[in-house]
Amino acid sequence: MTELTELKGIGEKTAGALNRLGIFSAEDLIWHYPRDYEVFGEPVSLFSLETGKVQTVEGVLFREASVNRFNGLVVVNAYISDMTGKLQLSWFNSPFIKNSLKTGVKYVFRGRVYEKNGRMVMNQPKIYEAGTYYEKYAGRMMPVYPLTSGLSNNLIMKAVAEALNKYTGKSEFLPDEIREKYSLCPAETALIRLHFPRSEEELTSARKRVAFNEFFMNLLAGAKISRDSMRRESEYRCRPDFRMIRFMAGLPFELTRAQAKAYREITADMNSAHPMNRLVEGDVGSGKTIVAVLAMIYAVLNGYQTAIMAPTSVLAVQHFQTISRLLISEQEREEAGNGPDTETGGGNTEKQPDFGISTGAAAGTWPDIKVVLLTGSMSAAEKREVYRRIKTGEADIIVGTHALFQENVEFKKLGLIVTDEQHRFGVGQRAAFAVKGGAPHTLIMSATPIPRTLALILYSNMNVSVIDARPEGRIPVKNCVVGPSCRKTAYKFIADEIRKGRQAYVICSAIEADPEDPDASAGIENVTDYTEKLRKAFSGNLRIAALHGRMRNDEKERIMAAFKNRETDVLVSTTVIEVGVDVPNATVMMIENAERFGLAQLHQLRGRVGRGSFQSYCIMINGSKSEKAAERLEILNHSNDGFHIAEEDLRLRGPGDVFGTRQSGDIDFKVADIYRDADILKSARAAADELLDADPELEEPEHQLLRRKLSVYLDKGYVL
Ligand code: ADP
Ligand code: MG
Repeated sequence: MTELTELKGIGEKTAGALNRLGIFSAEDLIWHYPRDYEVFGEPVSLFSLETGKVQTVEGVLFREASVNRFNGLVVVNAYISDMTGKLQLSWFNSPFIKNSLKTGVKYVFRGRVYEKNGRMVMNQPKIYEAGTYYEKYAGRMMPVYPLTSGLSNNLIMKAVAEALNKYTGKSEFLPDEIREKYSLCPAETALIRLHFPRSEEELTSARKRVAFNEFFMNLLAGAKISRDSMRRESEYRCRPDFRMIRFMAGLPFELTRAQAKAYREITADMNSAHPMNRLVEGDVGSGKTIVAVLAMIYAVLNGYQTAIMAPTSVLAVQHFQTISRLLISEQEREEAGNGPDTETGGGNTEKQPDFGISTGAAAGTWPDIKVVLLTGSMSAAEKREVYRRIKTGEADIIVGTHALFQENVEFKKLGLIVTDEQHRFGVGQRAAFAVKGGAPHTLIMSATPIPRTLALILYSNMNVSVIDARPEGRIPVKNCVVGPSCRKTAYKFIADEIRKGRQAYVICSAIEADPEDPDASAGIENVTDYTEKLRKAFSGNLRIAALHGRMRNDEKERIMAAFKNRETDVLVSTTVIEVGVDVPNATVMMIENAERFGLAQLHQLRGRVGRGSFQSYCIMINGSKSEKAAERLEILNHSNDGFHIAEEDLRLRGPGDVFGTRQSGDIDFKVADIYRDADILKSARAAADELLDADPELEEPEHQLLRRKLSVYLDKGYVL
């Protein structure tokens, strides 16, 4: 591993900024792929400028640039002309720009163009001296990297180039036959070209190889784990326990048939000669959590520890509370001495578990099951105490985020690991975690409704339980897709629901407006401004809170808890609440700029409502005029079935959509996209299976490098 500060031009400060993006080494930096590419086209005439697009122009500055101040912004304005017209150029909050602009000189400017009061304006253009521009950039594809404050795209480009030079692991790790059979370019070429392609063809072939690597490693790891576990003797065999029956009878609801079937399949696995390796797949709101909880209690009653990993701390806290409440109810029934009592509805207890550790007094035959929570917002001392309890076996059920499980947690006798929302993790982390605990049973929960054809390829070596029906009594969510002009009506509707005692979510795609480029964020709603806007719209009558990913974990948890406890009426949030959050009293999901989200993501967001017995609503505000966007949103408008939506999505996007936007909310590969790259996925599946058939332990000399790469992948999630 190469330290960041070993790279030229990277000091402690820049390294710190890179750390914030999750980049800690030169290898991480190579793994930080561009999010887009900018093609430097030839300058266009001012007459032919199109609004909304990034374009290049060339012209002479015909008047001295001016510095103006308004609304707290410092704006530098300049004007150029060519034979065909005039253009205004504006820069925000960078007054020094004025000094680099000379009247009468010809420049090339590149930036996004907007129409403002009938005139064309280019915002925040980059400045090049005419002449040098062509030689250096024209025709090239420049990588565009995800950034954070304190970093420029240029800096990352240079650092990546150097990291690529220094990186010694570029050798080919795929056997030649595989590379030839599937027409894949060499590993090293792919890495270099993915960052610095010289043409679209180069990019396409680099992408293909990198996507193949991602699929291949994922499938190879998965296949290896499941083949290994099939050969292993189970160290944690679980026997049926009558106390499970009484625990189930005490639940606040009856299991659906699909849940009961999944539970039976899980207990059969846990009782068999080999460790369990099972995926529970079910649409949002189908009730996967309780199935996992039952499996966990089953393991505990058999004398083992069990852990559940959630992708966010908000979700971890929620699981901790759900499990603690269920156990407290059981404990209370035990103490009352009358066993299960379905009438009191155990889930309604108001007793709040202590933060971090919940206990109940041991009594009778129901054991004193202890649950602990591990999240990033706990102090070092709190964490140490929890680690101690895990190690000594005082803790039976451990709930946390995956990050915490990657630290060296030592278990006394970990018998079952549950991963919630597994598509958020990737197989790497799951396996690394599994290895630390020996060979426990693994149970994976996923809500990603993948078309069946793709699921068969991705999960061919796992046992799958499908929860294909929702709990009874659920009223389907009512949908509407409307334009921004309907906002007022929507607010009125929300106010009505809140008057009835319900709650609402409003989702914005951004956290705050971009101060550098106000026009670029025009029309894109952001959480910060929207929260204020709503407070005004409801004239202070509603309790409105904001939530987004840049907040500290403990703050997020606090805001979520307040919403759950009905201390807040409206939660304005980014997609941080996308997965898992369960507040059955919330009945309205309003999504601003719905056109900016992927279908899978919108479906997940909608899944936050309709979780209780109330009629729920999803209001999607379409901020775009594009026909394609309307067509996509129409799919959601007409269907609440995640699997149907996934099929339609696949059909709409098709394999030809090479540079189309990736959809977050899908299975987390970095470059690969299971929809767009379905053909590559198929090849990778075949290649991984053939390889393991021929050399199950990866012992052949020509597989040694691959074997090493696989262990790095399992540890870090890298495929370099
Ligand atoms: P998901 O599959 O999205 O993880 P959850 O497990 O969070 O769904 O369940 C959604 C909601 O449905 C929860 O409030 C849960 O308590 C409730 N629920 C789960 N199973 C049932 C059931 N069989 N009957 C009634 N409600 C249920
Ligand atoms: Mg869930």
